[in-house]
Amino acid sequence: MSVTQVRSAWKRIERWCRTNDPQRLRELNPGASKKDLRALEAATERQLPDDLRTSLSIHNGQPLRCRSDFFIGGLRLYTCEDIAREWSGWRCSLYANRQTDDLSHRFFPDNAIQHHYFNDGWLPLAKENGNSIAVDLAPGPTGTVGQIIDFGRDIYNPGVIGASWGEFLYSYADLLDIVTEISDNPKAVYEGFYRTCDLNFLDALVWWARDGRWPIVRFDPAWRTSDVMALATGISKSRDFSAMPILADALQDAGCQSEAVLNHCRDRGCTHANGCWVIDTLVSGNVTEPRWCHSD
Ligand SMILES: [Zn+2]
Repeated sequence: MSVTQVRSAWKRIERWCRTNDPQRLRELNPGASKKDLRALEAATERQLPDDLRTSLSIHNGQPLRCRSDFFIGGLRLYTCEDIAREWSGWRCSLYANRQTDDLSHRFFPDNAIQHHYFNDGWLPLAKENGNSIAVDLAPGPTGTVGQIIDFGRDIYNPGVIGASWGEFLYSYADLLDIVTEISDNPKAVYEGFYRTCDLNFLDALVWWARDGRWPIVRFDPAWRTSDVMALATGISKSRDFSAMPILADALQDAGCQSEAVLNHCRDRGCTHANGCWVIDTLVSGNVTEPRWCHSD
């Protein structure tokens, strides 16, 4: 199942790149040879899951110096050689198979992943700064061999972000389609994302992978009805956000169906303290650029 998923995910990703971002496609290496795969297994003393092996034999990651990252805005996809090198770097570090401090780290889901800074059953597949996504070949009691996890220096709630590499890549292909839906210019979405997003890109990817929510939304000028604008301007002036749920109703009346926008307005746990992206977007009138949604 997962192997079929990998093949069809790559077909979809390649097709998407051909239409929207040919450079990204040129910067994917050709497939790894059997010899490359054997060398990786020998170096890591692990047998690769079938879907990962298939994926590497379709595209052996990306070259070291490439302009486009594989995952939008960050994360270069590793070659067999990179995986072996990263893995051995971690394994020789002080963090290998060392229990994390329970006060600083929370794992998601708690028992699906070993509570380590790094475990030698984790093969890193892509990285942005100090943070990686990896295939987990030594899961916790409720985890699955071959699940995809995130871990790294700045990640305090590491955990499962996909049941397998095949599933993860397939969802990524879905995500690329969402990017096309929210913008006529997908390249601008990547760039806008990187410019405006104050979170680590990996956090956004995790958010999307775990909750099925992609934190970018496109506003529609039609949502700025007189009702909506009266409420938004009032909230903006008074900085009193108690009318946010009423604003949600007004937005809905104006035809807004965006869950990201509506849920944000109705979320009672939200303080909107550092300036609210929904209010700011409506009041500024800059509703044509895709917007990055965050908790405020
Ligand atoms: Zn807000």
